[in-house]
Amino acid sequence: MDLQNSALSSALSTEATRQHLSITEGPVAAALEAQPELPEVQPASEVERRNFFDLSYADLQLVLKGLGKERFRAGQVYQWVYQKRVEDFAEMTNLAKDFRAELPERFEFRRPRVMQELKSVDGTRKWLHDVGDGLSVETVLIPSKDRLTLCVSSEVGCNMACRFCYTGKQKMKRRLSAGDIVAQFLIAHDSLKRDGLRVSNIVFMGMGEPLDNPEAVFKSIEILTDPNGIGLSKKKITVSTSGIVPKIPLVTQAGVRLAVSLNAPNDAIRDQVMPVNKRWNIKELLDACVQHARESGDRVTLEYVLLKGVTDRIEQARELYELTRRVPCKINIIAFNEHPGSGFLRPDDEQVSRFQAELIRLGAHVLLRKTMGRDIFAACGQLTSMYQGRPETMPLNG
Ligand code: SF4
Repeated sequence: MDLQNSALSSALSTEATRQHLSITEGPVAAALEAQPELPEVQPASEVERRNFFDLSYADLQLVLKGLGKERFRAGQVYQWVYQKRVEDFAEMTNLAKDFRAELPERFEFRRPRVMQELKSVDGTRKWLHDVGDGLSVETVLIPSKDRLTLCVSSEVGCNMACRFCYTGKQKMKRRLSAGDIVAQFLIAHDSLKRDGLRVSNIVFMGMGEPLDNPEAVFKSIEILTDPNGIGLSKKKITVSTSGIVPKIPLVTQAGVRLAVSLNAPNDAIRDQVMPVNKRWNIKELLDACVQHARESGDRVTLEYVLLKGVTDRIEQARELYELTRRVPCKINIIAFNEHPGSGFLRPDDEQVSRFQAELIRLGAHVLLRKTMGRDIFAACGQLTSMYQGRPETMPLNG
């Protein structure tokens, strides 16, 4: 039944009606959830201006429809903002003058203030953003041979408390909005453009657990991949999780790539270094990875941090291989990036090479990731922690 187009659909489309009929779950409820409702049009003077960067293309179409504008107007505005990078409605010259004048009464362009932009000698860049209320997040650009990958944050702080992670020591203080995430991309994009460069890939691997903030994360992905705007390929976007197993199907549904921070060869160690494992263990996590690979046809990336004496032993490379051989995956190993107070050490380069060689000998698809940007504290959460309250302690000039 096509609820979208039926008279019944419109009759049921208000929340009040839904509750009245007690349709709170099942396919009908899901269809009703999906049913867009036309916003009530209020006089501009009474509406709070919305952050344009929070709006998907479909959202914008809906708002403009409510204002009595034609469908194609949304495409025009989206192109000005995301393709021509114009954030002043007055400059959108193919829009009627009265429409241009109306838009600033409804929308504004809110983006975090850039507190610092740092460039490492190895090409890594890092932005520290002020997101208000004394809170900040960071975004890191990681260059490699054939790509420029932007690592974006999804939360201020993080509740997952991974023991090796600087951000994990800071309780989650705020979930970012979709607009905050989109703005991280735009700030990096505009900065790189001045140097003739472009972001090629995005990973949700900065501060925060993306699947703890799925609404904003998947809305931002919708915005970043919309062909009327930035138009990034979904295959160039990776969502990385510490292991919130029930939310992994959202990654599959969004059509983006999945990375999982595994970081241990067995439950006993993972329980110690990643408390999320006590809730969803390795078997449950890898089952979800297999399911994702089956449905998406895409390999999962398993991240594995080598902690000296904890996860870097050769017998643990064998254990890791046995554990993951049923998962269509590639394994990214990376030596721990030491930071003050972590309690963990970085293994020496020989041990890292031996660990990698053993996995290759066994037949695993494994990549050794270099630790980038050590001179600008590029591991997640480190820059923010250095900066808070003491800007004079920043280790580098931008
Ligand atoms: S590694 Fe990621 S999920 Fe774990 S505490 Fe740090 S930011 Fe959170």
